[in-house]
Amino acid sequence: MTVEERRAYHKKWRDTNPELVRVSHRRRNQRLKLLVLGAYGGKCAECGETEPMRLTLDHIEEDGGEHRAELSATGMAVYRDVKRRGYPPGFQILCWNHHFKKSRAAMLGGATAAAKSMQGLRPKVFIGYGEKCALCPCSDPDVMVLDHVGGGGRQDRKKKSWAMVYREAIRESFPPRFRLLCAGCNGENGIRRTMGLPSLDELLIRDANSPTS
Ligand SMILES: [Zn+2]
Ligand SMILES: [Zn+2]
Repeated sequence: MTVEERRAYHKKWRDTNPELVRVSHRRRNQRLKLLVLGAYGGKCAECGETEPMRLTLDHIEEDGGEHRAELSATGMAVYRDVKRRGYPPGFQILCWNHHFKKSRAAMLGGATAAAKSMQGLRPKVFIGYGEKCALCPCSDPDVMVLDHVGGGGRQDRKKKSWAMVYREAIRESFPPRFRLLCAGCNGENGIRRTMGLPSLDELLIRDANSPTS
């Protein structure tokens, strides 16, 4: 085979095996994430959480948005960038809950009208949905997010702001199409989705049905 033939053969293989290509990308991203997490200590700087699916790389100075814009890409580009630069200072590992708390504190510091109106709605939604995460024992109101049960959140959020979704939940007396999740469970489910792994919900159902438990 010539170089061209080999190249054409590989391209054809990729075109006919999109699912295998996706799996290999997911694996590569996962390896990169583990490498970067390890380089920065491998645990949440606030609470010591070590489960990789509940951890993220945090820009200590809150310039994550700018850095991502600079790299004009998603989360993984930041991981690639810090690896290429030999793990520069200015980054730390945070769990999703502590990352959420930090970004919320920064947002509230800005105190826009939207942020203020959300502040009034959050406690009502927290109480209406049982004051705890639907998937773990966490009951810290400061890390709770409203989850769309069974997905569809992204499409819904294209049409509505978070404040609109919160108002809708309150107006309809807390319908079961929403639930509370801590940022940790919400973040882990997001990673599980992109990795093609079973969600925390599916794992809980499996546990409940397993004869050993
Ligand atoms: Zn933490
Ligand atoms: Zn949780």
